[in-house]
Amino acid sequence: MPGLDGPVRIRRRAMIAIACILVLAASPVPSAAGPRSGPVQVVEITVSGPQALDALVRGGYDVSGVRGTRVTLYATPEEVEQLRQEGYAPVAVPPAVEKAYQSYDSLVQALQSAAADHPEICRLKKLGASVMGRDLWAILVTDNPDAEEDEPEIKYIGAMHGDETVGAEMCMRLLDLLLTEYGNDGRVTALVNTTALWILPVMNPDGLETVSRYNADGFDLNRSFPVYPDDFTEPLFHGVPPDLASRPPEVVAVIQWTLENSFVLSANFHSGDLVVNYPYDDDGKPSGVDAPTPDDALFKNISRRYSIHNEPMWNSTQFPDGITNGSAWYTVRGGMQDWNYRYAGCNEVTIELSTTKRPAPTVLDALWEDNSQSMLSYAEACHIGVRGLVTDKATGEPLWAEVRVTGIDHPVYTDPDAGDYHRMLLPGRYALKYVVPGYVARTVKDIAVGSGQARRVDVKLAQPDINRDGKVDAADVQLVINAVLGLDVPYDCDLDGGGVTATDVQLIVNAVLDKLQ
Ligand code: ZN
Repeated sequence: MPGLDGPVRIRRRAMIAIACILVLAASPVPSAAGPRSGPVQVVEITVSGPQALDALVRGGYDVSGVRGTRVTLYATPEEVEQLRQEGYAPVAVPPAVEKAYQSYDSLVQALQSAAADHPEICRLKKLGASVMGRDLWAILVTDNPDAEEDEPEIKYIGAMHGDETVGAEMCMRLLDLLLTEYGNDGRVTALVNTTALWILPVMNPDGLETVSRYNADGFDLNRSFPVYPDDFTEPLFHGVPPDLASRPPEVVAVIQWTLENSFVLSANFHSGDLVVNYPYDDDGKPSGVDAPTPDDALFKNISRRYSIHNEPMWNSTQFPDGITNGSAWYTVRGGMQDWNYRYAGCNEVTIELSTTKRPAPTVLDALWEDNSQSMLSYAEACHIGVRGLVTDKATGEPLWAEVRVTGIDHPVYTDPDAGDYHRMLLPGRYALKYVVPGYVARTVKDIAVGSGQARRVDVKLAQPDINRDGKVDAADVQLVINAVLGLDVPYDCDLDGGGVTATDVQLIVNAVLDKLQ
């Protein structure tokens, strides 16, 4: 129902808007790594072990890669000197000078032509602008691109680090594949028809133009997202506006875009290694220690869906199956994937596409061979698990709901624009609980999930104030009991939409008990 502004949708937009106003009055610096001013060079050092690596990360060094005891980091001259004083022997890594990659302008032109040539399945959206005023363009590929449909929304992001351009190139090739094969190739057509797929090829256009990891203010964008638990402890759904204060404009734009679109699945493309890295990057544990999320099995599964089609990645000698937990590799504070998972309920991984940050452009064709199937397979993973609509039983309006799974302590949220949720789950039997403030929560038990397309479970929720007297109390319980007993009750007592039964008594009792807690 696009165009209608129900109270729930207004609630979400208000929370995002409040944060935008606060940004204008920002002052404190983010708790993640601060900006690096002046010249920055890539250096390599050898560490004695995990403790030394952890000390580097905690000390604010911008570690960008780890292979065994060899650590790559981006350092200012002062930091290089400091490393020497700490007993290291930093060796400079020659800067990448490949210039034959596409420029920001040529990438933007390609996006504009794509949208102009395929208006039936493309929309171009400006998310914001970089420090130097370059627009951040994302392109949406889906059937009915102007409608909020009951479809999972997913995103692919490239060039968050401006000197890692392989991701932007792969994103553009994926876009080209989707547009040229739509209507021809069954698999591509099905993906576009059932998914809202967003692509942001360049998150850091200033860095792309200057071949810099950083934005124009010296911020590493993948160290500039809100940090749990320092910057937030609760998700947007629980009424906590996003912490945008003092964050780089590129990060603010991506945060707002993420929250406005209720993304289910996401991948963030980098280069400099060859691996799929899944959350957590930082759960308070030392670098080198596994920090699994409650969805660890799911993350391993979807990471392998990517790596298994990429032969060199799959055959990695450093990472079994070409995947790794982020923290088990090295800790990243203020990274994008942890924030997506913890705050927005979006499953995001970080994909390193090439051991060289900027390989010779002549190998891009071979890299696309390695990644095309992987990019399609990973996108298709948003369709596993349980999906459905959560609506108001009385009005049919879509609801912004929290969807909990018994045994996996991590909720996801419906998209309030259509009321649809997509809880990615591996095969098994699950109980899901649907929670909306002011409504009777419902639990649906024994949902069998297979390995194919998601099971559909639509849920209608009712408000518990049966007699509309402004209180949820024993009087409401009595009315439901009376209705179950067959007495004439002048109110709707069918809370779950399955007829007036003992289940409704249980639901109203639960609602009253919740209020008392
Ligand atoms: Zn990177």
